[in-house]
Amino acid sequence: MQAIEIIKKKRDRETLSKDDIYFMVNKYCDESIPDYQMSAFLMSVCINGMNAEETSELTNAMLYSGEIISHQYNGTPLVGKHSTGGVGDKTSIPLAPAVAACGLKVPKLSGRGLGHTGGTLDKLEAIPGIKTKLTVAEYKAQVDEIGCVISGQTGNIAPADKKIYALRDVTGCVESIPLISSSIMSKKLAEGADSLVLDVKFGSGAFMKNIEQARILANSMVSLGTKMGKQVTVCLTNMDQPLGKMIGNTLEIIETIDILKNKGPKDSTELTIELGAEMLLLADMVASLEEGRAKMRHSIESGAAFDKFLQMIKYQGGDISYLEDPSKFTIAKNKVVITAQETGFIAHMDSEKIGTACVLLGGGRCEITDSIDHSVGIEIHAKIGQYVEKDQPILTLFANEKGLDKAIEKVNSAIKISSCPVDKLTLCQERISTK
Ligand code: URA
Repeated sequence: MQAIEIIKKKRDRETLSKDDIYFMVNKYCDESIPDYQMSAFLMSVCINGMNAEETSELTNAMLYSGEIISHQYNGTPLVGKHSTGGVGDKTSIPLAPAVAACGLKVPKLSGRGLGHTGGTLDKLEAIPGIKTKLTVAEYKAQVDEIGCVISGQTGNIAPADKKIYALRDVTGCVESIPLISSSIMSKKLAEGADSLVLDVKFGSGAFMKNIEQARILANSMVSLGTKMGKQVTVCLTNMDQPLGKMIGNTLEIIETIDILKNKGPKDSTELTIELGAEMLLLADMVASLEEGRAKMRHSIESGAAFDKFLQMIKYQGGDISYLEDPSKFTIAKNKVVITAQETGFIAHMDSEKIGTACVLLGGGRCEITDSIDHSVGIEIHAKIGQYVEKDQPILTLFANEKGLDKAIEKVNSAIKISSCPVDKLTLCQERISTK
């Protein structure tokens, strides 16, 4: 078997066999297939897609490239969560401790930035000292002792996804339903959860630009989960504008602190509560979503969620004095305020352009070896539907030397203002659940 034959097969829209798919994945992992052949293969999948059977084999090949974690907690349910990725989407970071403070066990394997979207691990690493590369034993011990963990994939957990994910990030191979569903589900099936809540995003800042595509992605992941005997709930959420107020690694940790101290932006707090309620419902810890929301609100308002966050970060070696006093964080020194060019209602925010601007500032990677500047980012002052006067601030860029001119150009072309009133967006638009 040769990689080039399999690449050509997919290029010519033929169906790949299980052996073809396992060959590509296993040989890429043991480095007998080089990056350039894997990139060509991934691009051919992006362009020509995969059927359900091929997607399932790709998921299994990545899942079984490493070990599957198993936990035993005498009946305490474990619920996983994953987002398909958006701009300003820091939800996993406040969500894991907030739900764990309600008594649920939350094992969470997260990834790095992908394309124009930020990654939970890059954001967490804005906290000095934090360790995100845990061994399986450390990962399990942490879930056991404090109820939640957010870790990167160790060498042993879905290593194929880790390697392919990093390559997709810098080769334009992200926006593909089979690649996204197999990437997410291989990690989620490996992390040891009994059931899953998935946040599938659609809109200008998401990989799926409309709700119809997002539904196809959601159903693909639901069927992969069902095959493996997991209950899955999917929330389809709107990413036509950045989530919350902050984009960029350190800035998103600061917003996380605000969410957990009950003074966060309305939308990112609402999403944390909604997804938490879904997790509690899947785990049978509440009888209804309304009861779940009330439990989540109590977790935040009582301070229990913030305390659990401190516990989680401390357990992973992070310096919690930064979380207790966020003014200790370093934010990039140059501030550039982007203002409204006319008076009217914000009608459109191209969130992909805004996310890309953050990447250009150094908040994400353009090449696999790029290091991240945690201190850069963008603060959002106005949202879709909001009335703004000419010259009113809409965004502030926090920059160091890198990429400022290009980032300004990107964000300037991202905002459209209308003289007619524009409706505010509804964040959680649809729900699919196997339960
Ligand atoms: N999140 C992942 O883990 N993988 C993807 O491909 C997209 C989002």
